[in-house]
Amino acid sequence: MDFESLYSDRSKGMKASEIRELLKISQLPGVISFAGGLPNPKAFPVSIIKEISSELLEENGATILQYGQTEGLTELRELLAERLQKDGIEADMDNILITVGSQEGLDITGKIFLNKDDVVLLGLPSYLGGINAFRAYRSKLEGIPLDDEGMAVGLLEEKILELEREGKKIKIIYVIPTFQNPAGVVMPESRRRKLVEIAREHDLMIVEDDPYSKLRFDGDPVKPIKAFDENVIYMATFSKILSPGFRLAFIAAPKDVIRKMAIAKQSIDLCSPTITQFIAYEIIKRGLLDEHIPRIAEMYKKKRDIMINAMEEYFPDGCKWTRPNGGMFLWVRLPENVSTMEMFDDALRKKVAYVHGKAFHVDGSGTNTMRLNFSNPSDEEIKKGIKRLGEVIEERI
Ligand code: PMP
Repeated sequence: MDFESLYSDRSKGMKASEIRELLKISQLPGVISFAGGLPNPKAFPVSIIKEISSELLEENGATILQYGQTEGLTELRELLAERLQKDGIEADMDNILITVGSQEGLDITGKIFLNKDDVVLLGLPSYLGGINAFRAYRSKLEGIPLDDEGMAVGLLEEKILELEREGKKIKIIYVIPTFQNPAGVVMPESRRRKLVEIAREHDLMIVEDDPYSKLRFDGDPVKPIKAFDENVIYMATFSKILSPGFRLAFIAAPKDVIRKMAIAKQSIDLCSPTITQFIAYEIIKRGLLDEHIPRIAEMYKKKRDIMINAMEEYFPDGCKWTRPNGGMFLWVRLPENVSTMEMFDDALRKKVAYVHGKAFHVDGSGTNTMRLNFSNPSDEEIKKGIKRLGEVIEERI
């Protein structure tokens, strides 16, 4: 059968995630991998989940194994809305849609908003899963450089004006304002307010992707962008604070948008897994999640420090890196003439892996950058792996 002639036009815009391919290689025996985006397995609250799930199965097995509503479990939506209020976001349960990971949230957003050639503005660099989700709807992705405070709003405004002059239809500004994946930077409140102003002025929608803000090690929390504008589409996930295997996340958005999203979700998967929604609900309600998150933050803070100390010791002059106050990633900039893509084979020979920065840049730039994950490797692996990487960089320079 000639499947090529049968594939939809839309599927032709889909690309295999470069990280997926790379992850396969980096999982080869003996390779120390800073490539993936995995939480540390020691951060999973196994005994809490075991206890609560067996309790729920005994007491309520029939319900938690049944299909549920497309929008999600009512109790969970109510509880999440309450918790959002503490972050300064006005919401009730009708503003919430439970999704199968934020990845589904990004896909649904693309599905209901994007026509072919609609423009999505996003950071240089940006989360690859977001890039691929929006690309799949054949939108045009336009990159806006980041600085130490996230997306550079001055350049954003210039880009919007330029695209408007060309008659382009811009729809979405996609941002990960807190502990950005991959760059690790945080957008301060003043810039968040400015971003809202720009979006309002040009009638654009902000999609705020927030998987990491609760994983803060240092400094004070910054309010979500959605706290400054109710029209923002906000998404958060349980993947990094509870378990990615739960596949549980949620979107907070205006009610009309949530209704539309629920219709789209119905034809994707009918509902999110009922069992994990019930377990997550109990864990949050009993205060166990709030007790657990600081333990993860403490573990990751130590790992960040080990990585940075090792980089100071082993990386040659001319390398620069971010010092994130939370999240799971650190962003490294090598001298301009070093291609991290070309260097990757050298690194593999020395049995260390990373993601080259070009993968996160929709304009093909970032050739001298790379993302390092510090949450997944053990403390010992971080020290050893950074030493190996330092040698690889030294040879290249
Ligand atoms: N957005 C960002 C910025 C991420 O880093 C991730 C996970 N790597 C996701 C969304 C998707 O997370 P999940 O689907 O597990 O909720």
